Amino acid sequence: MTTHHLLLLPGDGIGVETMAEVERIIAFLNEKSGVTFKTESDLVGGAAYDAHGVAITDEAMEKALKSDAVIFGAVGGPKWDGVPYAVRPEAGLLRLRKDLGLFANLRPAICYPALADASSLKRELVEGLDIMIVRELTGGVYFGEPKEIVTLEDGQKRAVDTQIYTTHEIERIAKVAFDLASKRSNKVHSAEKRNVMRTGVLWNEVVTATHKTYAPNVELNHILADNCAMQLVRNPKQFDVIVTDNLFGDVLSDEAAMATGSLGMLPSASLGAPDPATGKRKALYEPVHGSAPDIAGKNLANPIATIASFAMALRYSFDMGKEADQLETAIANVLDQGLRTGDIMQPGMKQVSCSDMGAAVLAELGKLAA
Ligand code: NAD
Repeated sequence: MTTHHLLLLPGDGIGVETMAEVERIIAFLNEKSGVTFKTESDLVGGAAYDAHGVAITDEAMEKALKSDAVIFGAVGGPKWDGVPYAVRPEAGLLRLRKDLGLFANLRPAICYPALADASSLKRELVEGLDIMIVRELTGGVYFGEPKEIVTLEDGQKRAVDTQIYTTHEIERIAKVAFDLASKRSNKVHSAEKRNVMRTGVLWNEVVTATHKTYAPNVELNHILADNCAMQLVRNPKQFDVIVTDNLFGDVLSDEAAMATGSLGMLPSASLGAPDPATGKRKALYEPVHGSAPDIAGKNLANPIATIASFAMALRYSFDMGKEADQLETAIANVLDQGLRTGDIMQPGMKQVSCSDMGAAVLAELGKLAA
């Protein structure tokens, strides 16, 4: 029997509550799927700081490096606003991304039919929407040096951030996008600003060259990032996979995702390079939302983003596409039945708690898997 090793890092606030619902799904799959998930848990974020004075311990990092995938909840909250910068809760997530080499951030924007009216766009524009934004996560302007604020002779200040990309960095993220597209609708849009940025020129050249040698059968379109932002609200269904750099990806993925509904619905995956020996990628799956201190501990959180993140783990880390499909269908069915957590509540629907939503998804999964 195949055994997969998962590290669960619930973190702070609602991360703890939404992770509990994922654990129920893992227990179900252990019983029914013919695959065994062995789970370990550890602390991250404020919880790790309270216990150990750091945002993640070396021991937890060891577990993450040894695991087949990390499932992450959320970190942070006002309780830790005053802790030293180096050990602030977010530092745990940043260390995980860095030490696991997670350079590819996958942010799906899926519109569940039952929630199409909750979008700020018209129903016909978003119903059935299914986009994957592939954002480069470890390079570009967020990390390039120099990165500084200096005081000039006349007393004014000057701030500098540096956008840097190498051939290798662009090529590897392009390959992730082409691989994904080949399992979806076979279409990639590469978004940059080649008209005004040298990194945009290189990005364009390397994606074009990678396409030629690596994935000539995938349709490739180049689009300027500003036009991409416009097209995402004009006609989002023209896109399948969008690949872009760290900064544009940050903005475009939030834009695409919000076209589809609430923060409580949005999953994500971050992947590293394939291991040369096994072909397996390091991977971390997490909801897009934070720890939601305003509703934490009240059983009010929407667990769907975390559950859908686990569905991504099934698909991308464990090749369990059938189970991932069933889990996503279970979510869609529960929404069709009119069950809603507070964040996605609509008139005429039934408001349920975090644990009730988790139980409803599990019950639906049970029917689909029977
Ligand atoms: P947030 O995502 O935690 O919450 C924003 C709003 O959305 C809140 O009103 C919250 O109640 C609601 N919300 C979010 N997720 C929800 C869910 N699953 N179900 C129902 N409602 C939900 O963002 P914030 O308030 O800006 O940040 C709170 C803390 O989380 C801060 O400390 C921030 O630094 C941290 N944060 C962490 C991550 C992460 O762990 N990856 C991401 C973003 C923010």
